[in-house]
Order: sequence, then structure tokens, then C-alpha cells
Amino acid sequence: KAKMDGRGAFRFFEERMNDKLVSRKRMESDLRQAILRDELKLHYQPQVDLNTNEIKGVEALIRWYHQDRGLIGPDEFIGLAEETGLIVSIGEWVIREACRQATEWPDLSFAVNVSPVQFRNGNLVEIVRSALQEEGANPARLELEITEGVLLAQTDQSIDTLLALQAMGVRIAMDDFGTGYSSLSYLRRFPFDKIKIDKSFITGLGTCSDADSIIEAIIGLGASMGMTSNAEGVETADQVDLLRKHGCNEVQGLFFSLPLPSESITELMSDWEWNKKAEPQGNIEKR
Ligand code: C2E
Ligand code: MG
Ligand code: MG
Ligand code: MG
Repeated sequence: KAKMDGRGAFRFFEERMNDKLVSRKRMESDLRQAILRDELKLHYQPQVDLNTNEIKGVEALIRWYHQDRGLIGPDEFIGLAEETGLIVSIGEWVIREACRQATEWPDLSFAVNVSPVQFRNGNLVEIVRSALQEEGANPARLELEITEGVLLAQTDQSIDTLLALQAMGVRIAMDDFGTGYSSLSYLRRFPFDKIKIDKSFITGLGTCSDADSIIEAIIGLGASMGMTSNAEGVETADQVDLLRKHGCNEVQGLFFSLPLPSESITELMSDWEWNKKAEPQGNIEKR
């Protein structure tokens, strides 16, 4: 009977490491094939304008329909795509696909997430320009969402890229605002068009007074700098009402709709009942 001595434990550890490496390698080669095999798909989440109560745009969120493993969300593969550099071609595909879809929904704006790695390794400005041109989409309808990781490294070059995109007419939104280390200093360093308040703040709305003051302050600060505001992860009617009260411009989240395949979005947009959902519930005073 083998004793689990130091060496045995190490061998066990080694095997586990090896398993991990093998599955990572498999995932990487699968991901390489994913574009060619047409396994990547964009889902879209409606963004609702709190002034007009209408769907004003959508955020494109990538999904991987893996041939054996089924649906895989971005949190499970974007990291790997970034480490391996595959994000550059995946990101290019996302931009093209969103621009193509844009022609089907001529009244909507399109938000597309861009990885920091795309800024460093890809010719982002050219990719965006040619995607818009070839699909015949107006640059003013495209909004790129970046996180502070973009400005963390190679700041000057990243800012030049962002300015070139804005000069083209594309808007830039700061995603996940408030989750990073220095969100505030990034607002000073770059003229974002929009701030997306992270869902972690929205969760506390109405139940935790700090969340209310923080959100109100973020919206006010953004507005004073000419930036519009979006609240992510909105799940209840009360949150919608409070966000409206705080002057938030736009919301998205489960309360309205999960990210959906394009066919379902087309259906949803023609649904009048759904469109009325954003109207004030009139229950703020009652509470
Ligand atoms: P994100 O850009 O901050 O996207 C918001 C995430 O919140 C999405 O997760 C969305 O499905 C989820 N969400 C929407 N409404 C609600 C809600 O009411 N409650 C809760 N709890 N969650 C909600 P998803 O689709 O899994 O995407 C995760 C992250 O992956 C995104 O965060 C984004 O950073 C990244 N990502 C997605 N698509 C792309 C892409 O095409 N390229 C790149 N580079 N990153 C992407
Ligand atoms: Mg986003
Ligand atoms: Mg976000
Ligand atoms: Mg995120």
C-alpha cells in the first residue's frame, strides 16, 4: 500500500497541474477553431432611455456555442482569449458582426465591449473604420465600452486611439465604473461620452443609503463633465424609479431583458407592453 509521503503528494499535485494544462490547451485550440466553425454568437441586451421609455440601443455580449460543452459565457473564455492574443481576431469579429446587425435595426445604437489587449495589439481604429464602412453603418451609432485596464498601460497611446475613434464619430463609454482602483482619475484623464455605473452599486439602491448617495454623486459628476450615465444590472421597478429620480439617462438589466439572440430582440421591440415597462411606477412617494 503506497504511503502518501511528500513525494506522493507532489506527484499528485503534478498530475493535477498537468490536467489543468491539458484542458487549457484543449480550450485554447477549441477557441482557435470557434470563429471558423461559426460557434461565436452575439447576444444583445436592450438599453432603455429613461426620458423616452424606449429602447435606444443594445449592448452586444459574446457567447460561445461550443460543439460539446454547449453555451459558454464570456467570463469563461475572454481571459484565455486575452492571454493567448486570440482576443484580437475575436474582437475584430465582434465589431464586424455588431456593425452588420446594426443595419437590421437602423434606429438603435450599438455598444461593443473592447478588451485592453485589442488596444495594444490590434489596429483598432482601422478595424472599426473599415467595419463601419463595409457594413454601411453610421459611426455615431457605435459606442465602444472600455474598462480602466485600457488606460492602465501605455496611457498616451491608448488615449490617442480613443481620441481617433471619437474623431471618427464613435462614442466611448467607461464600463464597470466604480469597481477599479482609480475610476475617478480616469474621468479626468479621458473625455468619456458615457459612464456605466457598475451593477454592484445598483444592487444596493433603495436598501442601502450609501448606494443612493454614491450613485447620485456619480451621475452628477458625469453630467457636470458632459457625460451621460447608464446603470447596469437593473433588476426591479423600484431601481428604475430611483435611478430616474437621481437623473440617470439610461438603464439596462434583467428587469427589462436578459441579453438575447437577435431574433428575440426583434420580437421584443415590436411588443408594445414591453415598451411601456420603463414608465414611472409612481411608487417613490408612497415609500
Ligand atoms: P459587462 O460589459 O459589464 O456586461 C454586463 C454583464 O452583466 C453581462 O454579463 C450581462 O449579461 C450581465 N447582466 C445584464 N443584466 C444583468 C442583471 O440585471 N443582473 C446581473 N446580475 N447581471 C446582468 P456577460 O454577458 O456574462 O458578460 C460578462 C463580461 O464579459 C462583460 O461585462 C464584458 O466585460 C465581457 N464581454 C462580453 N462580451 C464581450 C466581447 O464581445 N468582447 C470583450 N472583450 N468582452 C466581452
Ligand atoms: Mg459592457
Ligand atoms: Mg459592466
Ligand atoms: Mg465587466
